Amino acid sequence: MSVTVRVPAKVNVQLAVGGVRSDGFHDLANVFLAVGLYDEVTVTPAESLRITCSGPDAHQVPLDRTNLAARAAGLLAARHGIDPAVHIHIAKDIPVAGGMAGGSADGAGALLACDALWGTGSSRDELLAICAELGSDVPFSLVGGAALGTGRGEQLTELEVGGDFHWVFAVADGGLSTPAVYREFDRLAEGLDVPAPVASPGLLDALRTGDASALAGALLNDLQPAALSLRPSLADTLAAGTAAGALASLVSGSGPTTAFLTKTPDDAQQVAEALLTSGTCRTARVAGSPAGGALVV
Ligand code: ATP
Repeated sequence: MSVTVRVPAKVNVQLAVGGVRSDGFHDLANVFLAVGLYDEVTVTPAESLRITCSGPDAHQVPLDRTNLAARAAGLLAARHGIDPAVHIHIAKDIPVAGGMAGGSADGAGALLACDALWGTGSSRDELLAICAELGSDVPFSLVGGAALGTGRGEQLTELEVGGDFHWVFAVADGGLSTPAVYREFDRLAEGLDVPAPVASPGLLDALRTGDASALAGALLNDLQPAALSLRPSLADTLAAGTAAGALASLVSGSGPTTAFLTKTPDDAQQVAEALLTSGTCRTARVAGSPAGGALVV
């Protein structure tokens, strides 16, 4: 018997970053939107915990106990005094180290899958608590849709979304380390007064009404200057998407994936093709939003 869970990627439509806290984290106002690019996590009883991964970026995924899916299985098993003897297979379609929370998605997916496989019957709140222990972005991967994350991003308030938004994601060669991007943010902010992060009312309104043009005007990522500083070539990708007719372009989370909002699915196809021919990215993917959260399939 095995259980498969499908779990989405995310884009941060607003990522407002405050100053560094005494625990080393940053306070955030993080508006997450789940997008229709998915990993599938399958768990099957086995002699002992092991992980395999398939997909074009599989070689970049750690297959040891540092994998967030393995850590999720370990945490759930420990809570219930169970041996985490399970084979976890990740069919990876979310870009790795791309700022789209692929590892977090696998953590949330493995948690839900193991809970179903082992019959541990965890409540939503118990699952969310384990997700928060795994990482700041993991609770959102479980919930999906759209949500505002405060604290270090893990305290979630679900948000209403009044329509579909269409995206193109340009995947860059190689990843960017999230901690390195935050370190660069701190370096660039040195000596500056960093305001407390707040969610933009205009952006929340645009989500609620499903207004793509208004959302385009409100997209904001405070990590973008840091990501561009570490990877200046991303400016060419952003410019290529804008020239191809995207309503707006921004770096996704800590990058190096870049995100382009378009008016229609056809526009998204056109922008994706233009990005591919521009030679400024490795590949371009079209995806709709909002997508649902982790789901047993
Ligand atoms: P975020 O958007 O949450 O900052 P990201 O999308 O930039 O994350 P991930 O794909 O989650 O990045 O991977 C970041 C690092 O996490 C990888 O380089 C890898 O070392 C590690 N990692 C641990 N578990 C996984 C996993 N299941 N899939 C991918 N990477 C993983």
